[in-house]
Amino acid sequence: MRDLLSDSAQRAIAYLEGLEDRAVAPSAAAIADLAQLDGPLPAHSTPPEDVLRQLDALGSPATMAMGGRRFFGFIIGGALPVTLAANWLAGAWDQNSALYNVTPATAKLEQLALSWLLDLFGLPADCGGGFVTGATVANFTALAAARHGVLARAGWDVEADGLIGGPPVTVIVGEEAHSTLFKALGLVGLGRKRVVRVPVDRQGRMRADALPPINGPTIVCAQAGNLHSGAFDPLADICDWAHAAGAWVHVDGAFGLWAAAVPSLAYLTPGLADADSWGTDFHKWLNVPYDSGLAVVRDRDALRAAMSITAEYLPTDSPNRNPSDFVPELSRRARGVEVWAALRHLGRAGIVDLIERTCRHARRFAEGLQAAGYEVLNDVVLNQVCVAFGDAATTNRVIAAIQADGTCWAGPTVWQGRAAMRISVSSWATTEEDVERSLGAMIRVAGAGK
Ligand SMILES: *Cc1c(COP(=O)(O)O)cnc(C)c1O
Repeated sequence: MRDLLSDSAQRAIAYLEGLEDRAVAPSAAAIADLAQLDGPLPAHSTPPEDVLRQLDALGSPATMAMGGRRFFGFIIGGALPVTLAANWLAGAWDQNSALYNVTPATAKLEQLALSWLLDLFGLPADCGGGFVTGATVANFTALAAARHGVLARAGWDVEADGLIGGPPVTVIVGEEAHSTLFKALGLVGLGRKRVVRVPVDRQGRMRADALPPINGPTIVCAQAGNLHSGAFDPLADICDWAHAAGAWVHVDGAFGLWAAAVPSLAYLTPGLADADSWGTDFHKWLNVPYDSGLAVVRDRDALRAAMSITAEYLPTDSPNRNPSDFVPELSRRARGVEVWAALRHLGRAGIVDLIERTCRHARRFAEGLQAAGYEVLNDVVLNQVCVAFGDAATTNRVIAAIQADGTCWAGPTVWQGRAAMRISVSSWATTEEDVERSLGAMIRVAGAGK
């Protein structure tokens, strides 16, 4: 075991150290080599060291260098070394972290991480929270609590009786709500399409002057951090309007919630703390390993009602927090351990620095691309930049060429009718030099296609 695990650590370290010298996207040859994995289920055993050798030889070269310094796709960072190290150790612990009485160390670390996070985000200390796999499931989890909350007020027990035959629930969303929010709405039985859509402005923010009247049990889904612009919905107006009518406000803050930790970004977040529930990611801006996110619900009992179970064989009676009371899963890995490690390592100042630094890098991208004559479509308020290199065909050709060049990686999108490249700066590791080098590559590649 010792040799195997040491070999694994050595290979992982060599992989990470090699990220700087390779193209960000895997080569066509490396992808083609994955075919060597094909074949039937082995009839007999293979020595573990051979399994690991094959995994490294074929798997490592065919990865996208997402943990590297010049990956700007989606909105994802790379694991901070301390979080990867904590992940390895917690993996060795192999704790099924459902219940405090059974796995006290991991339950305690998640409890502590949650209280630090509520403090960091300026949310009430007695909120309920669950460590889930990402913002999709955070939204799903919070929406299940929201469904409980608005229907309990209408005298309906949705956990016992389901939605069928109950009072209808109105769901109000912004026109640019994230696609995964609609999936979460579908999963909780509220429907992907059965929503009232609020029109948005040029930055994708819900228009405060276009909020509809509210009648009956209602959930409003607002956004802190638009996928394309980073913009925030007018949360203070939304909370005032929704709460006056007894509605529940959920905020999808997959990356934007982190602005609440940063004094210089406070101008973006008025009203954020007045909402009823929030979802966020850790594997985006906190730079922890996948898969990791958080659902927070002001009414802890509503979250618990939606998520908890009892069974004779489970020692659930504890004055301490049982992680599984607040998440969809029972058996689960303690993903909060890595979150704890990141928070313990960075501290408040380190988190503020991480967010401010990546926002500064994003502004530099926007400035450099604009100076080179390309059109930045959004106001760069956070870490998102949407750039058009010309018409849709030109923009898509340039994006493909940038990806093929290998210096950096950013992906395509269509936003408010325009084809664009999205640059998200989310990694702890990206330096000013990386930004300049990547900008240089983008401008060179875009210019070469003219
Ligand atoms: C990334 C993102 C999601 C989905 O998060 P996952 O971690 O991929 O599940 C939801 N909403 C917004 C605004 C996002 O940026």
